[in-house]
Amino acid sequence: MTTLILMLNLLDLRGVTDFTGRLPRPSVDEEGPVEVVRGILSEVQSRGDQALREFTSRFDGVELSDLRVSAEEMQSALLSLAPELRKALELARDRIADHHRSQLQEPVDHGGDGVHIRSYRTPVERAGCYVPGGRAAYPSTLLMTAVPALVAGVQEVVVCVPADKATGRVAAVTLAAAALAGVTEVYAIGGAQAIAAMAYGTESIAAVDVICGPGNKYVAIAKQQVATRVGVAAAFAGPSEVVVIADETVPATFAAIDVILQAEHGPDGLAWLITWEESVAESVTSEVERLTEASPRRAEIAATLAEGGYAVLVDSPEAALQVSNLVAPEHLELLCRDAEALVPLIKNAGAVFVGPWSPASVGDYVAGPSHVLPTFGTARFASALTVDDFLKQHHIISVDESAYDPGGIAGAVEALADAEGLTAHADSIRLRDAARASGEFGSITPESKKTKLMARPNVRSSLDLIAGYHSAQVDVEVRLNTNESPEPPPSGFVDALKESLDSLQWNRYPDREARALRDRIAQVESPLVSGGLSAENICVANGSNEILQSLCLAYGGPNRSVLTFEPTYALHQHIAQVCGTDVKHVERDSEFQLDLDQALAAIVEHRPSITFLCSPNNPTGMVESSSTVRAVLDAVESVDGLLVVDEAYGQFAAWSALGLIEEERSIVVTRTYSKTWSAAALRLGYLVAPTWVIEQLDKVLLPYHLDAVTQAAGLLALEYQSEMEQRVAGLVGERTRVSAALADLPVQQWPSEANFILFRPLGPAAAAASADTATGTATDTHTALAGNFGDLVWQGLVDRSVLVRNCSSWPRLSGCLRVTLGTAAENTKFLDALGDVLT
Ligand code: PMP
Repeated sequence: MTTLILMLNLLDLRGVTDFTGRLPRPSVDEEGPVEVVRGILSEVQSRGDQALREFTSRFDGVELSDLRVSAEEMQSALLSLAPELRKALELARDRIADHHRSQLQEPVDHGGDGVHIRSYRTPVERAGCYVPGGRAAYPSTLLMTAVPALVAGVQEVVVCVPADKATGRVAAVTLAAAALAGVTEVYAIGGAQAIAAMAYGTESIAAVDVICGPGNKYVAIAKQQVATRVGVAAAFAGPSEVVVIADETVPATFAAIDVILQAEHGPDGLAWLITWEESVAESVTSEVERLTEASPRRAEIAATLAEGGYAVLVDSPEAALQVSNLVAPEHLELLCRDAEALVPLIKNAGAVFVGPWSPASVGDYVAGPSHVLPTFGTARFASALTVDDFLKQHHIISVDESAYDPGGIAGAVEALADAEGLTAHADSIRLRDAARASGEFGSITPESKKTKLMARPNVRSSLDLIAGYHSAQVDVEVRLNTNESPEPPPSGFVDALKESLDSLQWNRYPDREARALRDRIAQVESPLVSGGLSAENICVANGSNEILQSLCLAYGGPNRSVLTFEPTYALHQHIAQVCGTDVKHVERDSEFQLDLDQALAAIVEHRPSITFLCSPNNPTGMVESSSTVRAVLDAVESVDGLLVVDEAYGQFAAWSALGLIEEERSIVVTRTYSKTWSAAALRLGYLVAPTWVIEQLDKVLLPYHLDAVTQAAGLLALEYQSEMEQRVAGLVGERTRVSAALADLPVQQWPSEANFILFRPLGPAAAAASADTATGTATDTHTALAGNFGDLVWQGLVDRSVLVRNCSSWPRLSGCLRVTLGTAAENTKFLDALGDVLT
């Protein structure tokens, strides 16, 4: 017998026929952990949020202010995702969704003998997904739990995931996965306390009906303990396990890396090789050693292998399967000759991977079935997480009168009830029999109709997993968060509008072409366009958002892409996604300037149908130069794309792209009444474009999309052009004043040509972070602190009844706030409040 210096312990079972009692399982100290978990559960049950905070501080080293992760942080995590990673998550999400949809079988409906039985399933109302986060971030687990729940039709899917010790925040990639899955309720808590919160509910976390997801032994034990109160899958989803059955037909490195890949999750797992070839035991073992040596997760692997790593020698493939069935592993890999032929011998295993090209990692991420699998031998009776874990089955039984015919089913009920002495049971049949005989009720059997069964239709896959676009509103005195005009329209406007409403033909549809309004807008914007404009160059809609959406409907869509330059107005990508368009991003440089080389390279690489350029850019306020826009336009045209310049804030800038509009060029400019024209309530925006674009938009806009009141108001507003120009000049003056005042405060600000200013308050920690950023040594911790400081300042302003936009959790904008320029008095209040908060 060869002596192997092992990372894998050798277990020689050759010559053994009955394996019972011969297989070591990692020893799990049940008693101690159960006691600990019980303590945690009862604390959370009695003291709620307070206990959650204490346990999170004690076990995770994190001081939580908000248990729930904010919508803005989730949105920004999504925006900060590297495009490649986003693509991979979307692929995984879609495959998981497809697979789980296939588990939603049609309801069964069968009958005969006058008894009809239907079965249908309804989802639980609220499901809680536990996503581990202590040792690594697991966006894959988020998708593998939340997507099946959503596919099952669960209305409220919540996620608990522990925050990272270093940053005090949940890993951005996990939050991004949540956003991609369509989950909006995420709590930064983990461990047994998270299971307790979901099971019992606390002040800020409502109790759920079902808890799913894997975890360490404390989490798994906690789930068992709460199983009488909430639904918990029978599978004990604990530390990872794999059994690899291999022979010499498969390279030893394949078998070795597959043994290691589950071991790298951490301790208490199980990683076995089973083979009937001694040379394979040797070669795989030494490969395990070699590969582990090089692994950055060596400690986790060593911890698993020391207790749970075995190379098992048996006599034959059949014996290997017998051993594996006794182990009942979470993952089983068949890396051997005639692997497929061994499949019928499998009795107990969570997920099985057949053939040399099927490592368990494929199942962990993208195959489709959930990677939440039974461990610890529970594969003997339990399965992978499926939609069934979130569904309740109802049986509907309806009986025809004919069942009461002599010799019918009803007679059997009567006989059985009599035998059991349950007279009321028997009488329920006899009474009906008597009624039939007397004819007293006539025919009381309703038409045997099939009740329509409720199955929820699926929305388009591009849509079902994205969140809606919202921004929070808070009731305060000074609202400087949505870039509106601070003043109502000139007083004459409302009177003139009332008058025009008197002559409005309410019973008729409005002018479908909005001709008068488009004529007038063309006239107003003409001076900026060298070739002049006519109504044929103008499209009007309900806000420039609707214009942007119509552009995406016409020029975006499946198998097409759009390009955005981040950070920018998030609705561009949102609308594109809603239209089923792929979204590509280019990051702006550290000062939020467009890196032209990168922009041009991305256009050539991705060939986007639409390139969005927001200028002045929201939220940075910066304007692109004429030469930049021209260069981007040339590139866009070289790939037959369309350049959309979003000039929602165009009037506040010194330069406009309107001057580039020509019939032969692929550039369009969107503008709005929401900012300059003091008419955000009107929801009116417009597009200035070559005529061929306007003709295409006519196909996607709904008939009569712009109502008569909006058309009339839009026309009237333009009568006040000179007032509006004065207001713009006034706001530009305020911009200079506020910016100068900000320069005297400890804040970093960006030069704005819009009616808002982006700035970053510099607290002690943020100042350090900003200095580090300048020297290129910023750490994640610093960025997180800067983000927290932004939140603090934002809250400080709200406490002083001033609301600005909190961008501090948006990608690249850690710690930043955006203030809309208001009236002089409002701006002064803002500056006073900010000075107060910062000093
Ligand atoms: N584009 C940008 C860059 C914006 O910031 C906004 C509003 N926040 C819009 C378009 C939408 O404006 P509207 O009110 O015209 O839909």
